[in-house]
Amino acid sequence: MSYKFKNCIILATDENGIFNVLRHEVLCVKNDKIVYIGPEGDAPACENEKDMKGCIFMPGIVNAHCHGPMTLLRGVGGGLALQEWLEKAIFPIEDKLTPLDVERGERLAVMEMLASGVTYVSEMYDFPKTTGMVLKETGMRANICRVGLSFSEETQIPPGRFEECVELVRDWKDPDDRVRAEFCLHSEYLTNEGFARKIAEANHDYKATVNIHVSETKKEHEECKARHAGLTPIAYLEKCGILDNRTYAAHCVWVEPQDMEIMAAKGTSAVFNPSSNCKLASGFAPITALKKAGVNVGIGTDGTASNDNLNMFEEMHLASLLIKNTGRDATLATAEEILKMATVNGARAMGRTDTGELKCGMKADIIAVSLDKPHMFPAFDIPNILVYSAQASDVVMTMVDGRILYENGEYTTLDAEKVKAEMQESLNRIYN
Ligand SMILES: [Zn+2]
Repeated sequence: MSYKFKNCIILATDENGIFNVLRHEVLCVKNDKIVYIGPEGDAPACENEKDMKGCIFMPGIVNAHCHGPMTLLRGVGGGLALQEWLEKAIFPIEDKLTPLDVERGERLAVMEMLASGVTYVSEMYDFPKTTGMVLKETGMRANICRVGLSFSEETQIPPGRFEECVELVRDWKDPDDRVRAEFCLHSEYLTNEGFARKIAEANHDYKATVNIHVSETKKEHEECKARHAGLTPIAYLEKCGILDNRTYAAHCVWVEPQDMEIMAAKGTSAVFNPSSNCKLASGFAPITALKKAGVNVGIGTDGTASNDNLNMFEEMHLASLLIKNTGRDATLATAEEILKMATVNGARAMGRTDTGELKCGMKADIIAVSLDKPHMFPAFDIPNILVYSAQASDVVMTMVDGRILYENGEYTTLDAEKVKAEMQESLNRIYN
C-alpha cells in the first residue's frame, strides 16, 4: 500500500538530526517506509491520496515505559503511598489476573495509545506472549519481555523463570519485526546477583535489550546501598554485567552523579515517568543532570494504576514544566528536546534506529495532530504548540509500519465497543 499525504505541516528531521518544519509539502509512504518528503511536483505516484490540510505530521510517539494491562487497575489505591499501594491495593488484584484478563487489559491500553498518538511501546507485564499477541494483532510497534524477578536467595527464583526469559527472546518471531522480545529484570530489589549475571550473559548472547526499574524511590535506592556495601542500583547492575549491553532504566529518580557517569559510559538510557513519579510522590529524575552527563533520556507513562492514563502529550507537558521549574530556568527542556525525548530518544533506548523521526527510509510510524480546535490556533511555533497546547484528543490519525490503525475516532484493527464490553466481564469477576 502507498499513501501520499498532501498539504500538511511536517515535523521532519534533517540529516543532522535537527527538526525542520516544512509547510505545504507532501509526505509519501510505500509499504512500511517513508519514501518521500518534499514538494508535490516531484512526489512519486501513490495508490491513496489524502489532503491533510490543517494537520501537523509528527513522528509517532514512543512510550518507553508501560504496563498496559494495568488498565484493569486504573486508579486503584489512589492516595496511598507507594509501598502500601503496591502491597495492599495492587498485588492482591494482580494475583487474580488470568491471561484472558491481561489480553483484554492490553487491548484497551492499545486503544488508548493509538488514539493518543503512541506508535511504539515498551510493554512490561506478566503473560508476555498474550500481550505480544495483542500488540501484533492490533498493529502496534512494541518491545515485550518476561519479567525477570527473584527474591533475596538464589533458591527463591520462581522455578524456570530464567529459562522463560531466554525462551521468549529466542523463540519470539514477528516476520514484520514490529514486536520484539527483550530481557527484563524487574528491579535490583527483586533480583539477586546470580540471576542478574545470567540475564546479563543472555543479553550479551542474544543482542537484545534489558528493561528495568531503577532507583524509583529513595527507600529502594538506600536499601540497595545498605545491602550491597554502598553500591547504588546502577553500580550494582554494572557489577553484575547488566550494563555491558543495551539497557534502559525506568524512573532513575534517585540516581547519583557517579551513576550518571556510569550510565553515560555504558550507553544505558533513562526513562522519565513524570506523572507516575509525581502521583506516588517519589520525586522526579534529575533529567538536566542526566542529559549533561550524556545519558539518552526517553519518556514513559508507566501503568495506569499510578498515572492514571497513557497520555504521552500530558507526559511531555509535565516533563517540560518539571525540568524547567526544578532548574529555575525557563531555557531548559525546550519543546524540541521534549519532543525528541518522546520520540527518537525513546526508540533508541529501546534498541531501534529505524523509527522516531520523519525522514526518508524510516519506518512509517506517523501521527497527524489537528490544528482545528481553538487551543491550537494560531500555530506560530510547531514544536511549542505540540508540547504546550496540544491535547491527546487532537490526534486524528495514527499510522504504524505504513498501516493506518486509527483515523478520526475509528480503529482499523479493533472493535472499540467489543473491547470495552469484554474488559467489563473481567472487571466483574476481579472486583466482584
Ligand atoms: Zn513501571
